Amino acid sequence: MAIASVYFGEHLGRYGFGEGHPFGPDRIHAFWNETVKQGIDKRVDILPPVAGDEKSLLRFHTPEYIQRVKAASQSGLGYLDHGDTPAFKGVLEAGLYVVGSDLDALARIVSGETPRVFVPIAGLHHARRDAAAGFCAFNDCGIIIETLRSHYAIQRIAYIDIDAHHGDGVFYAYEDDPDVAIADLHEDGRYLYPGTGAASETGIGAAVGTKLNIPLAPGSDDQVFHRAWPQVETYLRAFKPEIILLQAGADSIEGDPITHLRFSPAAHAHATASLIKIADEFCQGRIIAMGGGGYNRNNLALGWNEVLKAMLV
Ligand SMILES: [Zn+2]
Repeated sequence: MAIASVYFGEHLGRYGFGEGHPFGPDRIHAFWNETVKQGIDKRVDILPPVAGDEKSLLRFHTPEYIQRVKAASQSGLGYLDHGDTPAFKGVLEAGLYVVGSDLDALARIVSGETPRVFVPIAGLHHARRDAAAGFCAFNDCGIIIETLRSHYAIQRIAYIDIDAHHGDGVFYAYEDDPDVAIADLHEDGRYLYPGTGAASETGIGAAVGTKLNIPLAPGSDDQVFHRAWPQVETYLRAFKPEIILLQAGADSIEGDPITHLRFSPAAHAHATASLIKIADEFCQGRIIAMGGGGYNRNNLALGWNEVLKAMLV
């Protein structure tokens, strides 16, 4: 058995908004072609995508919202939100494959079968409990957090997000929860969707001071990343999580068509290796990485495979 596992299969790719869309169904293949090219497929356990059940969505989302997605999934018409996230026929089922694969990964991680798992396409961090947003129908990150608590009695959870966009759907759902540590490096919200994630946003109520937002100026490169990253490490070691969730969006890599950060894929490798070390120290090695955004196909192929390779060390 390999030390790391990855989900791959046609069904995961179905969560996409049509050929030619930045979030198209071809993203999974762009990733996997590179995995095979680098021979990484021979070194990991490859797991087939798993269909999640509708009930699991209720752990995070409201019943009314799920019904709305269901109706839109049947008609395939219009938008799930106010114009960013198109509906398509089967969006419910496609979204359930993302969620189901995450939850299958979680079961394997917690049982100790495979402590490190990568789920490409997952990491839909903009969806709210009652709304879609920014190409995200269901917030699988939130569903993971709720499931860790309801099914595995795991309370102290660290969510790290290196996608160029602020993970607002996760942040605001747990803004008042001191047991969810959130460290989010992103392009400054004054220049990029969704416009949130100022450094002054550190949590509210009982959770004041438990969140770390690191907004970066457009054009920030690996040097800026490396200057910022030790803050994340210090913060996580002080928090002592029981499990680590990484949203490894590749849209923070130079050349993405819709963002302005300039990391190289090496940033993704460094972040993953660093988090694995922390997971080994505090979390019995447990880490789940999700692909997140990334709209330059070459970047997502290289960035996500750096995540996967770091898991094999
Ligand atoms: Zn993004």
